[in-house]
Amino acid sequence: MSDGPDDGRVQRRGRFGSRWVPGGRLVGHGPAVPDVSDDAPTVGVLGLQGDVLEHLHALQRSGARPVLVRTRQDLDTVDGLVIPGGESTTIGKLLQRFGLLDPLRDRLGAGMPAFGTCAGLILLSDRLDQDRPQVTLGGLDVTTRRNAFGRQVDSFEVDLDVTGVAGGPMRAVFIRAPFVVEHGAAVEVLAAVDHHPVVVRQGSILGASFHPELTGDNRLHRVFVGIVAG
Ligand code: GLN
Repeated sequence: MSDGPDDGRVQRRGRFGSRWVPGGRLVGHGPAVPDVSDDAPTVGVLGLQGDVLEHLHALQRSGARPVLVRTRQDLDTVDGLVIPGGESTTIGKLLQRFGLLDPLRDRLGAGMPAFGTCAGLILLSDRLDQDRPQVTLGGLDVTTRRNAFGRQVDSFEVDLDVTGVAGGPMRAVFIRAPFVVEHGAAVEVLAAVDHHPVVVRQGSILGASFHPELTGDNRLHRVFVGIVAG
């Protein structure tokens, strides 16, 4: 697999790694869909806004039965839930509008495994490092800073070692990404960039600042599917 788009666009060096190029990562990563076994866990993807389809494909490649979650009834059918990247303020507003905020908080409170990526990590944070109030779900005992690495132009890719992910570093795509600025003792930091936590786990809740669904590397999804199955 090449490191970037092969259409002549240049990947410049960014502050933390090479520049992220819009769309470049989607090339050649269609849904190679293996058969799903009968005992595969049903894992939902919150489908209100963001990169929903990419997560459904990644889950399918990771041994789960993926389900789009847009209603309370959908939520009742899943063993675990992925909250995708996108815009956390928008997803928060849509959670209220779709009547999913309280049902989802209830499921998380009852121990449903969840995996939040980028905006999803923000939504799973108990606290945000900002003065402006914003709807979140909570679940992770962390304080998270939005857009912590800078603006859209500061998006970047880097090879990242993640504790618990065997087989070498993951290519991690950070797009207006958050990082964790403070966390409680129950939170494990599984990866960091410049000493800033970017992958965290607390029990059955996993959060990542980057977009593992964009690279075709399903190892972090497999970790989550393992948490759901276990
Ligand atoms: N910056 C976005 C937010 O605050 C998250 C970006 C992303 O999910 N790629 O919600």
